[in-house]
Amino acid sequence: MARIIYVNGRYSPYSQASIHVEDRGFQFADGVYEVCFIHNRVIVDLDGHLDRLDRSLGELRMAPPMSRPALIHVMNETLRRNKIRNGYTYLQVTRGAAPRAFSFPGDDIGSSLICMARPHDEKKNNALAKKGINALTVPDIRWARRDIKSISLLPQMLASQTALDQGCAEALLVEDDGFITEGSHSNAWMVDHDNRLLTRRADNSILRGRTREVVAATIIELGLKLEERAFSVDEALAAKEVFVTSTTALLMPVVQIDGKQIGAGVPGDISNKLRQLICDAYGM
Ligand code: PMP
Repeated sequence: MARIIYVNGRYSPYSQASIHVEDRGFQFADGVYEVCFIHNRVIVDLDGHLDRLDRSLGELRMAPPMSRPALIHVMNETLRRNKIRNGYTYLQVTRGAAPRAFSFPGDDIGSSLICMARPHDEKKNNALAKKGINALTVPDIRWARRDIKSISLLPQMLASQTALDQGCAEALLVEDDGFITEGSHSNAWMVDHDNRLLTRRADNSILRGRTREVVAATIIELGLKLEERAFSVDEALAAKEVFVTSTTALLMPVVQIDGKQIGAGVPGDISNKLRQLICDAYGM
């Protein structure tokens, strides 16, 4: 089956879809994106993702490409045309196509909108979560507005590839002061020896992950201790448990960092319990 992509008002097979070479996404990475998880044809946490999209657009002074109901229609139609039952959908909005100039083009230039959908193997993700993943620490060379879900992903892409090259599934990004900000495409967490759950405060230094929000609410509901503060690589290495969260990985235990074992070297009880509760919350 040919995969179908929505681009600026048209659903086409990938081979026929195109974007203008002067699209500001291509020229300047002047755009934002969202990834939503699909389970049993339902878009999980849809409002949370679209609220974040609106926020990212607002921070870049970009207008929404269309109304929210119209956007939801495009997402569902893209899922339907690609026959996605379990997977994810990707939205990208850029400032549109205009003669290349640093200044913002006038409002008459409409933004560009792309929507695509992919299947996702939930069984594979579940199997990986039973084993846990290895992570590698990599310097965080990103810009100062990481709270915007920007399509400028070059530093994350390079960090992620460096980790993969060393047999690690995620890169943990570290600032000069030795504190972890987040993963290349996830938020980072640790459990200390008093069973306190630590994750960085959602200021400009990290992306406010939707999964991070859901996990934080679950921790509070369980009556566990949540501390939103930065933690260092040394603290993570000495932690009882470490895990990362994201829309596509859900909650993934980290059992090794830079070749050093974390805790017992297997996914810990708190990570396993929280992952199960997230799966329950998402109806999985
Ligand atoms: N941080 C970064 C840098 C990310 O790219 C992502 C996922 N795109 C996340 C955190 C996790 O966010 P979410 O739970 O909304 O997928």
